[in-house]
Amino acid sequence: MKTIGHFIGGKHVEGTSGRFADVYNPATGEVQAKVALASQAELRAAVENAAAAQPAWAAQNPQKRARVLMKFVDLLHRDMDKLAEALSREHGKTIPDAKGDIIRGLEVAEFCIGAPHLLKGEFTEGAGPGIDMYSMRQPLGVVAGITPFNFPAMIPMWKFCPAIAAGNSFILKPSERDPSVPMMLAELMIEAGLPAGILNVVNGDKEAVDGVLDDPDIMAVGFVGSTSIAAYVYSRATANGKRAQCFGGAKNHMIIMPDADMDQAADALIGAGYGAAGERCMAISVAVPVGEEAANALMKRLIPRVEALKIGPYTAGNDVDFGPLVTAQALARVKGLVDQGVNEGATLAVDGRNFTMQGYENGYFMGGCLFDNVTKDMSIYKEEIFGPVLSVVRAKDYDEALELPMSHEYGNGTAIFTRDGDTARDFASRINIGMVGINVPIPVPLAYHTFGGWKKSGFGDLNQHGPDAFRFYTRTKTVTSRWPSGLKDGAEFVIPTMK
Ligand code: NAD
Repeated sequence: MKTIGHFIGGKHVEGTSGRFADVYNPATGEVQAKVALASQAELRAAVENAAAAQPAWAAQNPQKRARVLMKFVDLLHRDMDKLAEALSREHGKTIPDAKGDIIRGLEVAEFCIGAPHLLKGEFTEGAGPGIDMYSMRQPLGVVAGITPFNFPAMIPMWKFCPAIAAGNSFILKPSERDPSVPMMLAELMIEAGLPAGILNVVNGDKEAVDGVLDDPDIMAVGFVGSTSIAAYVYSRATANGKRAQCFGGAKNHMIIMPDADMDQAADALIGAGYGAAGERCMAISVAVPVGEEAANALMKRLIPRVEALKIGPYTAGNDVDFGPLVTAQALARVKGLVDQGVNEGATLAVDGRNFTMQGYENGYFMGGCLFDNVTKDMSIYKEEIFGPVLSVVRAKDYDEALELPMSHEYGNGTAIFTRDGDTARDFASRINIGMVGINVPIPVPLAYHTFGGWKKSGFGDLNQHGPDAFRFYTRTKTVTSRWPSGLKDGAEFVIPTMK
């Protein structure tokens, strides 16, 4: 059986804690590897290594650091097929979707090649007599990222690319469910010229996470995962005086106005609701058609499309819309929530619970489910399902539709489909949600903008990637300098002001 250890000091090291987790192939249900779960002592060793390597890396000029990322981008392209295969084998998503996962991370690496520009400070000449004032952005030291299973390439890259480009060293604690790709990314960074010790991968579970949160030398923690763990990581990291940005779960609504192109809206809902088996924090899980006519027209289009979804293992090639769920527990949880929706009185218009994949009976597959007549009090509306399940909540008018995402506890993404500019503009302006799509169902910002949810989808005040990532992983120092030639001598006892 393959074992996966850690990547510390530029090389693979075996785990020494004696604890391991099983890594499954979700398509077959087989255990294909065992991943080491780090002890706090192993985490500490990685931090010491990272701390020793960091000053020399920070002292490199930013262009030289950027060149490592430039080379890394080339290597990602070179190894795209290999990375995608490893990703799909542990996650279950299709190969084209796995490539999307890698490319969305690669795009952040490309953005971070602009580090020399992004790290420039500000300068004021002549702020007072003989006085110049300037600010500089300096790295924090050792920083960390804790990432979820659903984007095992993209989210680690969102974290470590800006942190490393800014001159920090990095501890990545990826999901224990699909650890291979993060390890391959660390190998590629070394091949790209990154000095040993700057990017370390420590595999593990709660013990390693708690080690990160309590370690006195880790200055900042970027987390992505479920909301309860995000809240925990945020409070423990900040109580220990660290910077933290923690992104959590979601319940993304898409409002369909009566004037929308219904075929376009239905297609958008199918891709955004069922792609990656719904295991995306930006998946649309609630459709809100406005008015009975729009609701009926939408259901008429959604039902055959959900029934026609093609489900299969990633090895089946391009002819598959989505694959299995990640684990047996995830499958049981999603099916349990669908049962609960039926018990609570929602109409299950398409039932995918009994789907079996011929030849893959032990895989974690289920078919697409479509609920109609869902109401606000139902658990399938309140909870993040994270599976191939779309709920339709019928609203009588725009105000009632708007109120649904406004009053939901999550605030990651949302969308509106309409041909009316006034309505779209009003929606974008009033909605209390971090990422908004207008006739775009998954409005994931590109690498040079920032990504982050509001309410219980995000804790902390800076977003991921874009300029915010450089703000998060650096601190500002402001220097006031005076060269005294031509100035009068004598002590000043009054606080200097610009009189
Ligand atoms: P998860 O919360 O189970 O795990 C995330 C990370 O936390 C993993 O590294 C895991 O090892 C660690 N962890 C798990 N339990 C822990 C505990 N008790 N104490 C300390 N650490 C613990 O999340 P997941 O199932 O891997 O990912 C899916 C979730 O992530 C969904 O809720 C999804 O919406 C969310 N997500 C959010 C975003 C975003 O940007 N908002 C992006 C992707 C995924």
